[in-house]
Amino acid sequence: MSRSVMMSDLSWPEYKRRLEEEDAIILLPVGAVEQHGYHLPLGTDWIMATEMSRRAAERVGGIVAPPVMYAYKSQIRSGGGNHYCGTTSLDGASLIEMVRDVLKEFARHGARKIAVIDGHYENEFFLTEACDLAVRDLRYDGVTDVRILKMRYCEEISDEVLEIAYPAGYPGLALEHGAVLETSMMLHLFPHLVDVSKISDDPPADFPPYDLYPGNPDWVPPSGCLAPAHGSSAEIGKMLVDEFTDLVSGALEAQFRTAQTAAERKVS
Ligand code: ZN
Ligand code: MN
Repeated sequence: MSRSVMMSDLSWPEYKRRLEEEDAIILLPVGAVEQHGYHLPLGTDWIMATEMSRRAAERVGGIVAPPVMYAYKSQIRSGGGNHYCGTTSLDGASLIEMVRDVLKEFARHGARKIAVIDGHYENEFFLTEACDLAVRDLRYDGVTDVRILKMRYCEEISDEVLEIAYPAGYPGLALEHGAVLETSMMLHLFPHLVDVSKISDDPPADFPPYDLYPGNPDWVPPSGCLAPAHGSSAEIGKMLVDEFTDLVSGALEAQFRTAQTAAERKVS
C-alpha cells in the first residue's frame, strides 16, 4: 500500500501512529461550493484548497483531513454573490461552529500542530473566529500546547510570477474569481474539469466602493467571473501551483518544523 497523506485513506491505528510517532501536522482545507463562471466547476475552491494542502502535506509530514467543502456566503464584490444557482453556502455561525468543533476533535486525538488552509475569500474572519474559539476552549480544558496556523494557499504571489501571469496587471485577490489564477491552476491540475471553450468575454467587474444588502446582481458580469480568464494556461498554472506549494509548505516548516521542533520529532 502506498503512503497516503489523506486522512480518509488511513486506518485509525495508522492515523494514531503518525500523530504519536511522526508528530504529523493536520491540515484542514476549507473551500466553497460556489459558481466559478461558465468554464470552471462549482467545487473549484475546495478542490484547490485540498490539492494544495495535499502537496504541502507530502513535504512536511502532514495529514490532510477531509475538507470543509461548504463555506461562508459568496459576496458580490469577491465571489459574484450568493444568488447564482449552485452557490451553496453556510451562515457564518454555522461555519464557525463546524470548524471549531473539528479543530477541537483533532486536538482531542493528540494533534498539536494544525493548519487551516483556506481557498475561499469570504471565509477569512469566520475561520479566524473558529481558530480563536477552538484555542480558547482547549485552554479552558487545560490543553495549552495546540498551535493552529491559518492561511490562504494563495496569500502571496511573487512579482516574477505576477508579471508572467498578468501581463495586463494583477486585478487583486478579491477579483481573482474564476479568472486567470484559478483557471490556470485547474488547467494544470484537473484539465478534465475545465471547459476553455466556455471562457466568457465579459469585461472585468467594476464595483462601487461599498456593499448593498440585498446585493445587486446587476453589478456582476453575467458569467460570474469577476476578471477575464483569457490568457490562462497550464504553464501559468504550474508556476502558481509550485509557488503556492512552496508558500504553504514553507509556512508549515517555519512554524512547526524548525530545528527546535525537529529535535523533538521522532521519525521512524
Ligand atoms: Zn474560487
Ligand atoms: Mn470563492
